[in-house]
Amino acid sequence: MEVFAVDGLPEVRPGEDLAGLIEDNVDLQDGDVLCVASTVVSKAEGRGANLAAFEPGERARAIAERIGEIADEPKDPRFAQAVLEESEEILLGAPFILAVTQFGHITVNAGIDRSNVPETDLLLLPENPTASARRLHDALGVPVVVTDTSGRPFRQGQRGVALGWAGLPACRDWRGEHDREGRELTATVEAVADELAATANLVTGEGADGRPVAVVREFAFGDHDGHDALFRDPESDLVRQALRGYEYSTD
Ligand code: GDP
Ligand code: MN
Ligand code: MN
Repeated sequence: MEVFAVDGLPEVRPGEDLAGLIEDNVDLQDGDVLCVASTVVSKAEGRGANLAAFEPGERARAIAERIGEIADEPKDPRFAQAVLEESEEILLGAPFILAVTQFGHITVNAGIDRSNVPETDLLLLPENPTASARRLHDALGVPVVVTDTSGRPFRQGQRGVALGWAGLPACRDWRGEHDREGRELTATVEAVADELAATANLVTGEGADGRPVAVVREFAFGDHDGHDALFRDPESDLVRQALRGYEYSTD
């Protein structure tokens, strides 16, 4: 397996034909997986937004005030409002906003970005990253993972995760297979889409590199069962349940 970033892509503008841009800059082959940073998917889909467009409601003002108190610096309630509008549920209101996006991904600030965004104050995540991945997959013919850089609990540092995917299952299900001792695996489900996203993130960079697209070449899913249940079911997610009782939970 090989991974490389695609060079030569311009600043992506609203309405851009992203598939066409990618096609012009890389020759894709059978066995490639195309990993595309959500930043450029959002830009192409016109997901730039300005703070002035968000009228903060009571809850957004309360959240911004609480975070501001903890951080000891004022926080813009319009930003909190933008996060609320992008979210299906808020798991934590402070000391940072941990949100469930409308498409089920859990992340700080609903993934709203302020870096690599030249024209607007904010860049929202794609509305439906799996639909975005599906469109790119249909146009380009290879599996596609739409990625974002995301933090994680328990560990410092961010890494790439999959927001949406098409043309391959998100998970490799090892259950029912056997280890070297012949013991049956009963729990192991490998989050392949996240692993591909993290691999891509190694070569796309986070700053001024200008390389939002990576190709993982000769990736083999192998002879395994696969499924798409990457986001945990809310009702059986113990951490999500526990956060509902946390003092800074806002629901
Ligand atoms: P995210 O992980 O999806 O939030 O995206 P990042 O902001 O980390 O950007 C990932 C990569 O894409 C970095 O190399 C950026 O420099 C690059 N990038 C971001 N926007 C653009 C763009 O419009 N055009 C090009 N060519 N590169 C971009
Ligand atoms: Mn991002
Ligand atoms: Mn990134």
